Parts: sequence; structure tokens; C-alpha cells
Amino acid sequence: MTTLYNANVYDRTRPVGSFWETTVEPANLTHYSPLNADQTCDVAIIGGGITGLSAALHLGRDRQLQVRVLEAGVPAWGASGRNGGFCCVGSTRLNYEELLQRFGRQETHRYFQDQREAVELVRQIASEEGIEIDAQGDGEIVSAHTSTRRASLVSDYEFLTEVAEYPCKLWSPEEMAEHAFRSPEAHGALLVGVGFGLNPMKYCRGLAAAVYRHGGTIHAHSAVQSWEKADGWHLLHTPSGTLRAKQVIVATNGYTEDSLHPSLGDRLLPTLSNIITTRPLTTAELEAQGWRTQTPVYDTRDLLFYFRLLADGRFLFGSRGGTVGDGREGDRAQAYMTRRLGEMFPAWQGIEITHFWNGLVCISAALTPHIGSMADDPSVFYAIAYHGNGVATGTWSGRAVARLVAGTHSSTQLCSVFRQPLKRFPLPSLRIWYLRGAYAVYSLKDGLPL
Ligand SMILES: Cc1cc2nc3c(=O)[nH]c(=O)nc-3n(C[C@H](O)[C@H](O)[C@H](O)COP(=O)(O)OP(=O)(O)OC[C@H]3O[C@@H](n4cnc5c(N)ncnc54)[C@H](O)[C@@H]3O)c2cc1C
Repeated sequence: MTTLYNANVYDRTRPVGSFWETTVEPANLTHYSPLNADQTCDVAIIGGGITGLSAALHLGRDRQLQVRVLEAGVPAWGASGRNGGFCCVGSTRLNYEELLQRFGRQETHRYFQDQREAVELVRQIASEEGIEIDAQGDGEIVSAHTSTRRASLVSDYEFLTEVAEYPCKLWSPEEMAEHAFRSPEAHGALLVGVGFGLNPMKYCRGLAAAVYRHGGTIHAHSAVQSWEKADGWHLLHTPSGTLRAKQVIVATNGYTEDSLHPSLGDRLLPTLSNIITTRPLTTAELEAQGWRTQTPVYDTRDLLFYFRLLADGRFLFGSRGGTVGDGREGDRAQAYMTRRLGEMFPAWQGIEITHFWNGLVCISAALTPHIGSMADDPSVFYAIAYHGNGVATGTWSGRAVARLVAGTHSSTQLCSVFRQPLKRFPLPSLRIWYLRGAYAVYSLKDGLPL
């Protein structure tokens, strides 16, 4: 297997170590047994994260198609079960001006409406399927890490209210302290009135149970090791069985191996994101930092920090990860994040860190999310590359790709932001070096040299 990061990052036998895992029972593997014989189905889905599970739910429950999900680990082993739980908008690395330039006002507006619908779709699925997701907060806070960046939030506010038509508020530093928190690195904020926080593991477990309840089959520990096509059938070979299907959805996001399918190879750039969580904070500790919000927050740095208070009082603090993925780099990252947490929130300096983990998010050359089918084989579909924002968008994209597979919608009905061709990165073997270069530049811009 050729991968961009250390083998640890892809090792499904190693514990992930996330806090979320401690909030659920161990996966019920009797429902998700490995593919241990040759089987046939209507639609095979590779990847059992939010995208694959949402696609499976919408195909099985709403279209009565026979679906099987092949997952190399257990359901939600990938980014879906270990993210920050921001059910919010984003999913592109293009800034607002670039979106307008590339797609025009109408399509950009449509994209933001789709994103808003994606957030609501998560709530809707949770309510329809009876999933307890520990929803918290209302919207998403963008915290200005310098006073200069506060000025730039004004144009973001104008864009989001006028083009995206989102309800938003601009907060002065005083208003921010009144509604959200105090920090030497908080100089006012923009409250985007779309989004909330959730427990991603509970959400994914609920999705997987719903897929099972509606007749879908999920096979854990069933990595697709090779893929061939014969007589119009896709043959997906796993360690102990082959799945035959007329249509395939690839939902492997940051964990996609270049060798999985020739039309995906060299087209994705997975990047690591890290998270630490503290022990539960007491009311007095929260008050000492002036913390009074349940709403998820990120700051205005290029290499942003994201953080939120969890349902049990823990503080979750996330940042970009490294470019290697081994244990030594992980130890350094944990120490760095612990130090930064104390600098941003001095009242919590030295507070016990209970969990550290990381995982892969996915970037594409176009810097946009992609939904569609392969140019050289229209029976292979994909929904991929959410640029670190796939809780809501992965759910929505899973439904969108299910509609393409079922033939109820055509890809031309999708907003053009999602329809960009999946282009190869120039000199793909240098992808990690592009990332290192970008991190070096962004760190300097952010005032936090590497
Ligand atoms: C640390 C971290 C924090 C994040 N925070 C947020 C956040 O707060 N909000 C947000 O919206 N997004 C966040 N994200 C991003 C979000 O988690 C992802 O965009 C989303 O989960 C992608 O879902 P997915 O189902 O497409 O992919 P994944 O959840 O990554 O699932 C892909 C699955 O495919 C499987 N797979 C790969 N290859 C094969 C194969 N050959 N055969 C079988 N199975 C295979 C993998 O085992 C994996 O389980 C974060 C990500 C990380 C890593």
C-alpha cells in the first residue's frame, strides 16, 4: 500500500484514542460482520463514514435498493467518528471572493443554501431515526485573533448576510465577552447563525444502526484490496470475499489510497488534523475564563484553531496536524497544543489533558468538494474532499450521490461548486512538500512560526 503518511495513520488495529469512543458502547460487530463469502448487491459502497452511511441510508430506506458497505475498520473508524463535531458550513478552501470569481453570485448563493440544508439534514436524520447526537449551541463563532482580523470580519459579515443570506451578528470585543468568552487572542467575533455542535461518534453509530434497520448491510474489517470489472459487474475483492455490484460509490475521503481507482489516484491530498480534550471543567473554572457559550468556535488564522465546550464540561481544542503521522510527531503536537491552549485560555493553563488523537481530512486540487461519477466509468460514483468540514456536507453529499445512483437526479442539477473535475495534482509525489511549504507560509502569516 502506498500512502502519504506513516503506516500508523492507516492502522485499523490501533486504538484511535478519541474522547468520543468513551461515550459509546463498543461497536456491535454481530451487525457488521466481515464479508466472508462472495456476495452480490445493487450498490456497493466503499467506506463506512458519514458519506458512505448517509448514501446507504438514502438508497436502502428511500429507494429500497440492496446496498452493502465495505469498511476497512469498523463503521466511523475514519474521520467521521473522530472529528470535532462541528455540524457547520464550509467544505472549501476557497475564500468568499474566490468563490464569487469562479462561480458567480447565483451559484455561490446556491452553494451556501445547500450547506445550510446540509446542517438541517443532520438534524432531520437524527430526529427521524431517533439518534441522540448531543446537539449543542446555535450557529458558529468566528473569533478574530487580532484586531486587524476583526476588520476583515466586516466583509465576511456582508458576504454572509447578502450573498449567502445567513443570519449573522458582528460582536465587538465587549459583546464577545458578554456572549462567548474572554481570551488575549479574541478581539471580537462574527456569529454565523447556521450550525451547531454534536457528538460525531453517536451520530455515526446512529446512522449505521439506521442503515442496518432499513435493510442495508455493513461489513466491518472488509478493506477493498483490489477492484476489477468483468461483464459489466464491479468485483471488489476483500480479504475473505468478493462483492459483485453494478454500481459502486467511493466514500473513502482522506483515507483513499491512490491505488484504489485510477480516476482517483493522485487527485487528493489528505492532511492531518489534531484534537486534545481536557478533563471536565468546573463552573468556577469556566467562569474564570469567562466561558459562556455552547456554540462551536474557530479563529481567523489561516491554520486555524477550533474549539468548543462539550456536553460534560470538557474543552475540545483542535488544530492542523503534522506531515509525518508517527508517534514522535504526535507527542510534539500534543505538547504544542497543550501550550497553545494555555496561552489562549490562561485560566486553564496546566489543566489535565485526557485525550489526544488525530485523523485525515481531505483536500482536492480545485479546493472544492466533489460529487459525481467517473468520466471513464459512469457506474462509479464518488462524494469526496470536504476540506475539514464533512459532518454536515458528508451527510448531504451522501444523499446527493445516492440520488445520482438511483437516477432520480442528474449531476447537472448539482450546484457547480460540487461539479468541478477531480484533477490530478501536478507532480503528485510532491504533495506532502506542497503541504509543508503551505504550512510554513501560513504559520508566518499567523504569527506562529513552525
Ligand atoms: C481531527 C478531525 C477533526 C475534524 N473536525 C471536523 C468538524 O468539527 N466538523 C466537520 O464538519 N468536519 C470535521 N472533520 C472532517 C470530517 O470528519 C470529514 O470530512 C468527514 O468525516 C468525512 O466523512 P467520510 O465518510 O467521507 O470519510 P471518513 O469518515 O474518513 O471515512 C472513510 C472510510 O473509508 C474507509 N476506507 C478507506 N479505504 C478503504 C478501502 N480500500 N476499503 C474499505 N474501506 C476503506 C476508511 O477506513 C474510513 O473509515 C474533521 C476531521 C478530522 C480528522
